[in-house]
Parts: sequence; structure tokens; C-alpha cells
Amino acid sequence: MQKSEQMVRYGSGQGVERPLGRSIQRGMLNRCPNCGTGRLFRAFLKPVDACAACGEEMFHHRADDLPAYLVIVVVGHVLLTGYMLTDMAFRVSPWVHLAIWVPIAVLAALVTIQPIKGGVIGLQWALKMHGFGGHDDEAADPGTDSRRGGPAA
Ligand SMILES: [Zn+2]
Repeated sequence: MQKSEQMVRYGSGQGVERPLGRSIQRGMLNRCPNCGTGRLFRAFLKPVDACAACGEEMFHHRADDLPAYLVIVVVGHVLLTGYMLTDMAFRVSPWVHLAIWVPIAVLAALVTIQPIKGGVIGLQWALKMHGFGGHDDEAADPGTDSRRGGPAA
């Protein structure tokens, strides 16, 4: 077998080193996606720089706005369904609906944002994005260095 053939790996079998589902699940449970033991968050939405149990570096993550978007998608659908169902069953004024659904929306967003952010970090770790695979994002992008400064420089 040639050396290049050994390097190629397709799909995700049992022996895969970073299973996607398990990594997302561990992240959503506030656990390190690598070992599943150490905590992922040191504060509400502040991930640890590195896992206290296994030392896996976590500062690479770039969850950015994605957790917030996902919270809006999930909470929005659930609340809209709840609003429409209760509006069909009970005829109440829009002010009553506002008084009910706005606090529920705030609470639901606060409850879901940390697990969803953990899941996003687990996803990025599993897919070796943003330096989680041991390489730098900047080095992998050929367009960043050569075009900086323009032709006059
Ligand atoms: Zn760990």
C-alpha cells in the first residue's frame, strides 16, 4: 500500500476520534467534548481556556453569533406554536398574551443559550474548526497574506 493511500479516511466509523454527536452532546451538558469530565464553561457563557481534566484547549472556539441565532430559531418556533395554540383555545387580549409570552421568551432564551453554545463548541471541536485540529486558521487561508497592503506596497 502506498503512503498516500494510508492517509485517506472517509466517513465516520466506530473508530473515529471525534464523533460529532457525542461531542455536541458533551458540549450541551457543559462538559469538555474531548474527555466528557471537565467543565466547558467557567461562567454563564465564558468557556474555559483549557479543560481542567484533560488539558484540551478550548479558546479556539468561534461560536460568535451562531448560538444566538439557534436560540431564536428554537425558542421562536416553540413560543409561536404555544402562542397560536393558546390563542385558539382562550380568547384573551394581546396584552395578556404579551404579559405571558415575553417573560417566557426571556426565560427560555436564558435557559437554552448555554447548552446551545456548548453544542456549537462541541461541533467546532469535532470538525477540527478554528485551530481545534492543531493548525491555525490564518495559515490555512491562502488569501490573507499575499493581498494585504495592495500592489503599491
Ligand atoms: Zn477534557
